[in-house]
Amino acid sequence: MPELPEVETSRRGIEPHIVDTTIARVTVRERRLRWPIATDVDRKLAGQTVLSVSRRAKYILINTHIGSAILHLGMSGSVSIVDHDTPAGVHDHVDIEFESGLMLRLRDPRRFGSLHWSEDPLSHPLLVRLGPEPLSDDFDSNYLWQKSRGRKVSIKQFIMNAHVVVGVGNIYASESLFIAGINPRRAAGRIARHRYDALVAAIKTVLAKAIAAGGTTLRDFYGGDGEAGYFQQQLEAYGREDEPCRRCETPITAIVQGQRSTYYCKRCQT
Ligand SMILES: [Zn+2]
Repeated sequence: MPELPEVETSRRGIEPHIVDTTIARVTVRERRLRWPIATDVDRKLAGQTVLSVSRRAKYILINTHIGSAILHLGMSGSVSIVDHDTPAGVHDHVDIEFESGLMLRLRDPRRFGSLHWSEDPLSHPLLVRLGPEPLSDDFDSNYLWQKSRGRKVSIKQFIMNAHVVVGVGNIYASESLFIAGINPRRAAGRIARHRYDALVAAIKTVLAKAIAAGGTTLRDFYGGDGEAGYFQQQLEAYGREDEPCRRCETPITAIVQGQRSTYYCKRCQT
């Protein structure tokens, strides 16, 4: 599943090819994604010029003067920039064709992605209740600590809740808690203020590193399949069950929390 760093990489990959260019036409071959694509999207986009391509959580926003297309890649979606006469494959559901002769193509084999139109995208029901962006100044330890007071849920599930903060996926949650030395099972409400300083710093570092790793794949967005995938990076805890902790050599423990795998060191993470 594309996580926040992969989505941000996709945004950076497509933006330079489509900003300040006018949309000639939109072809939707399959409307049955996670939610049906409304005909609004193709009708409103046609003839508009792209002002910018932004991101909120794991949504890519293609912004025009009259509104925005809101794209989610779901479980298996990807975007790429191709020449307008590139033949479509069976999973290529949407093409946004530009007057430049280039095309933004959405491929989504499992069809869990979505595409919406909104005149005010940040107020759209999908986006309006999301927590802050993890790399923004709004996400700081004061915010997270205050938000956690009285919460009995585990800290790992707490930071993976998109109403608390967006974009902290399963791998990134495990890695951040390892770096911060916090036991993933600890109740969010029972963690001291100063430990949230370490946790917020770790979350920002882990995500920024993943985005930086994705930068190496940017050139693949033109003419390629746009598959960003998971970026190669050294994982400290995730996926290392029974392997020695990189700090203390205690074997890494694997547990399941909220139906997701968690990896941590019983000695370093308290
Ligand atoms: Zn350890």
